[in-house]
Order: sequence, then structure tokens, then C-alpha cells
Amino acid sequence: MLVDSHAHLGMPQFNGDRQEVIRRAIDNGVERIFTVGTDMEGCRKAIEIARDNERVFAIIGIHPHHARHVDESTYSNLKSLSNDSRVKAIGEIGLDFFRNLSPRETQMASFREQIHLARELGLPIVVHARDAQKEVLTILREEGARETGGVLHCFSGGYEIAKSCMDLGLFLSVPGTITFKNSSRLRADVKKIPLDRILLETDCPFLAPMPFRGKRNEPAYVKIIASKLAEVKGMDFDEVARITSRNAQTVFRLDEEPL
Ligand SMILES: [Zn+2]
Ligand SMILES: [Zn+2]
Repeated sequence: MLVDSHAHLGMPQFNGDRQEVIRRAIDNGVERIFTVGTDMEGCRKAIEIARDNERVFAIIGIHPHHARHVDESTYSNLKSLSNDSRVKAIGEIGLDFFRNLSPRETQMASFREQIHLARELGLPIVVHARDAQKEVLTILREEGARETGGVLHCFSGGYEIAKSCMDLGLFLSVPGTITFKNSSRLRADVKKIPLDRILLETDCPFLAPMPFRGKRNEPAYVKIIASKLAEVKGMDFDEVARITSRNAQTVFRLDEEPL
């Protein structure tokens, strides 16, 4: 059993063949997919897909790229959407100081608000951090991420940030970049992280693993990421699949919902 802990199945790249993509994932042993909305419309779409597919769950939140569109109604809308039992986390939230598509202050305010919301709702968080590790950690600590639990998605290396997240009780999610030839530093860092803190993700349609780099990514490829992780860890594929899936169950509190 495999879990893709972070996919964007609602994106237009999947409009032509969404059901086939989900079917292919299941055929490749991916038993659960967490699809992430990044703005209000995307969140509604994520829930709709999760309602239509018993193996898909939704994660809803406002991505830092879209923070500048947030208004007073946004959080109450997210709150009412979260009443749907298919919603398992608030995300992806965080800071992106690489692309800076929203002003930094706005990103930080939105990140804080959504951690509050997760705490209020009793849901874990899915965190996006790009070129803003230090600021993300400060906000996670100040806003009490220890209480929500959750995952730093798309872990891109840096043992220090991994360690700080683990100290907060968070998990790290490993994407397809671990298969890239030039990712030896990421592999070295992942090797040091205990397997019982690791989740797998595709972040599809982005970041396809080798040999599909540059093409559209899809949840079926989480199998490739699991193989690579098994190689890096010197462990059996089955054990990596089992433990990372169990970790996803723990983070997203699915224990009460066996397939
Ligand atoms: Zn992200
Ligand atoms: Zn994402």
C-alpha cells in the first residue's frame, strides 16, 4: 500500500483524464491520495473530487501565492468547507519568498490565521516553505503548530529544518526530486531522517520523478519515489511503503477509517 500525501488533482492538467489518473494510481498500489486546494475555487474542487472517489481525501487552505486575495470572508468560508468529512487537513499554508507572488507581510498574516483555524478545527496542517525556512519555523513555534500536528511538504533538504520540524512533532514529506541526479544532498539528508517521520508525495502535476522529469506528474509515480527512498535507506520497498503509509494515516488521523 502506498499513499500520495500531496497531489493537485483539481488542476486543469488533469481535466482530460482525471478518473484514469486516479485509476492508474490505484493499479500501482496507491491506495490513498490527498488532493490539495490552493485557493477557494481549488478547495471546492478538491472536496468535490474527494466526494466522488472513496480513495481520495481533501486538504484545503490558501497557498501563500494566493494570500493577497484573502478577505474577511475567506476564513469563514474555509471553516464551513472544513465541515465536510472528506477534509483531513488545512493546507497548503506557509511562506514562499522565492516567487513572492503575494507580499511577505500578507503571506505571514495568512499563514498565522490558518494555523489558528486548524487549531480551532482540530485539523493538522500541511506546510509549504520556500526560501523562508527560518520565518516558517518562527511562525510554527509562535502559533502552536505542536498542537495541530502536520507535515512540511516537499522537503527539499537541510537537516536543520528537518530536525526543527521533528522537534515540533511534524512529519516531512519527500517528493520526486529525490530521484534527480543532482539531488545527492537531499538524499543524504533524507537518509538521516527516521522513516517513521517520513511521508511520500508527488505534488503532481509538478515535479515528476525520473525518468519523467519535466513531464506531467501523477499519483501513480509515488511508487517510483518509494523505490528511491527504499534504495536511499537500504530497506525493502514493502517496508518503506508500509511505514510511510502508516505515517500518513497518523498525520491525517485516518485510523478510524480503514479501507
Ligand atoms: Zn507547495
Ligand atoms: Zn502543492
